[in-house]
Amino acid sequence: MNKDYEVVIGLETHAELSTESKIYCDCKNAFGLEVNSQVCPICMGMPGTLPTLNEKVVEYAIMMGHALNCKINRVCKQDRKNYFYPDLPKAYQISQDDVPLCQNGYVDILVNGEERRIGITRIHIEEDAGKLLHSDKFHGSSLVDLNRCGVPLIEIVSEPDIRSSEEAKVYLETLKSILQYLDICDCKMQEGSIRCDVNVSVHKKGTPFGTRTEMKNVNSFSAAVRGIDYEVNRQIEVLENGGEISQETRRWDDVKGESILMRSKEDAHDYRYFPEPDLRTIVVEQEKVDELKALIPELPNAKLLKYVKEFGMAQKDATFIAENAELAYLFDSCMAKGKFSAKSYSTWILGDLVKYLNETGKALSDTNINAENLTALVEKIESNVISNAGGKKVFAVIIEEDKDVDKIIEEQGLAQVSDVSALEKIAEDVLAANEKSVTDYKNGKTNALGYLVGQCMKASKGKANPGMMKEIILKKLG
Ligand SMILES: [Zn+2]
Repeated sequence: MNKDYEVVIGLETHAELSTESKIYCDCKNAFGLEVNSQVCPICMGMPGTLPTLNEKVVEYAIMMGHALNCKINRVCKQDRKNYFYPDLPKAYQISQDDVPLCQNGYVDILVNGEERRIGITRIHIEEDAGKLLHSDKFHGSSLVDLNRCGVPLIEIVSEPDIRSSEEAKVYLETLKSILQYLDICDCKMQEGSIRCDVNVSVHKKGTPFGTRTEMKNVNSFSAAVRGIDYEVNRQIEVLENGGEISQETRRWDDVKGESILMRSKEDAHDYRYFPEPDLRTIVVEQEKVDELKALIPELPNAKLLKYVKEFGMAQKDATFIAENAELAYLFDSCMAKGKFSAKSYSTWILGDLVKYLNETGKALSDTNINAENLTALVEKIESNVISNAGGKKVFAVIIEEDKDVDKIIEEQGLAQVSDVSALEKIAEDVLAANEKSVTDYKNGKTNALGYLVGQCMKASKGKANPGMMKEIILKKLG
């Protein structure tokens, strides 16, 4: 990218809410069922039907509003956004125009170790449209599946505070992990549970913001990165060649890796918003707003900042744990004991535990690992009672059965020999039996040391404390 330019990005992110039923009718809100099987006259937009707002949608949206530090508009309305497209039988979408449910918030994200605050303009509720199916089997026609009509959505609009495609990706990943923590969206990207529209502009450093273009149809976070990079380079090229950027809507084609002009400002849509006359004003009691706020746990982005800044963890490790609610709960419970370092726990969590979960397909709650037995294990290793290798054997047992760590060490004979006189005896025997290696070492062949320690470990049947063993040998070799 040309270093003379700055990039300005704003994202409009749609997330499908995982309520039982749709937003305005009792139809099931589910993905992947037989086409046009989850429909009724209301979500098919039949004349004369009346929508009824699903209260859960409002609650979920308010939870996201709290999570993103928004002001909650306890009194707000819903509006009709009018446009024609074959997947929208009513020819209008019920959305929110001038008064959204939530507004003026922010989210703190961590980009390459640097904390960034991204403003949230608004979060509003709306209904999804159906889906057009194009296939050669339909003899040149397209068919429409209305199962998705009326699936509840929240649209999260960011301020133009994002400065690179990488930052956009971290922002989207942060929103995703928050939605997962709140358990209000299944976040299945391949099923379109989260989609976004991207607004991009570029300007020369020190000059006002440039004209922005909007890019639609961005269906994955990696596509967002590719789409932004493409659009940034396209705009810079236009400007460098003396051209102007026109305000337009473009469609991202991730297969071809390019954006295509959909419509320019001249024929931009006028949605003719007007208040939805079939629905009452939304009024949420303050008690309800407070009650929902109390449900918000410590969120993954806050955890991430804590892990990196307070615990000194690497961002990659911290992100992995923070984004997985179960692992984060375990890790936090361990740290709350105030006994051992973050590293002594994260090594087990990111290593043997995650490996076990991946291999067995189990969730953490299906295993026996908890803060108590993990701390007991770490304690035995830190105090040199068992070696790291012995620790792995203990871990393999406690993850499957509720068994005392001390008992496992005893039964499997895992206790290390840390008794100095016992170790010295072993060292003396080994040195006496390996005179050549001793001479080699004294003549500067330092790798003879590893051999001698290895012989001691063998003589102790692997039970000698390797660190202490090495020190004793070094002392004896002078
Ligand atoms: Zn319905």
